[in-house]
Amino acid sequence: MRKLQYDQYDVMVIGGGQAALAAAISAKEEGASVALITKGKAGLGGSSVISDSVHSAIFSPGDSPDKFLQDIVEGGRHLSDKKLARALAEECTVRVNELESKFGISLEREKVVITPGHSYPRRVYAGTGLGKNITKPMRDYAMEIELIFMNNLHWLT
Ligand SMILES: Cc1cc2nc3c(=O)[nH]c(=O)nc-3n(C[C@H](O)[C@H](O)[C@H](O)COP(=O)(O)OP(=O)(O)OC[C@H]3O[C@@H](n4cnc5c(N)ncnc54)[C@H](O)[C@@H]3O)c2cc1C
Repeated sequence: MRKLQYDQYDVMVIGGGQAALAAAISAKEEGASVALITKGKAGLGGSSVISDSVHSAIFSPGDSPDKFLQDIVEGGRHLSDKKLARALAEECTVRVNELESKFGISLEREKVVITPGHSYPRRVYAGTGLGKNITKPMRDYAMEIELIFMNNLHWLT
């Protein structure tokens, strides 16, 4: 069994999907030394790769973060964590736009169909509708900025 030096890195991110890649890239760009630890291969495994790649963003006329927040809270029968729901409603558009501007991912915006629970069209998805078209460019970007990948390493708690 491989043993890790905990004090070797400022940040250790466990996972290899879209969440972990985004967190690790962000920490690295803040100046931290970062290791991304994945039981498979970063960007090539987990739910993110096989997802339908649908994200939500505010781009329809009349839509707003407040309206999206209201949809999240009401759709979740007021059970959602308000702080997290607000962060999602307020940051989703910047993050989705960043997939294009920073990672060079080609996205489509659904301008007509309104997904149940939403008040406006908010669907944004990778051209072919596959999550790997998002995780693969993020993985490539992470490699470019020399993020340290530790693949095939199962984190045990
Ligand atoms: C078929 C399908 C379609 C979907 N479509 C959509 C959609 O269109 N829109 C949407 O918003 N959501 C969708 N989802 C849900 C979405 O894919 C997930 O919520 C999202 O991808 C989770 O991302 P993540 O980075 O948190 O986790 P994951 O992408 O699952 O990544 C988890 C990572 O952690 C690693 N890991 C786990 N345990 C350990 C361990 N002990 N040690 C080391 N590494 C470990 C795994 O190898 C993996 O790389 C879909 C899900 C599925 C299955």
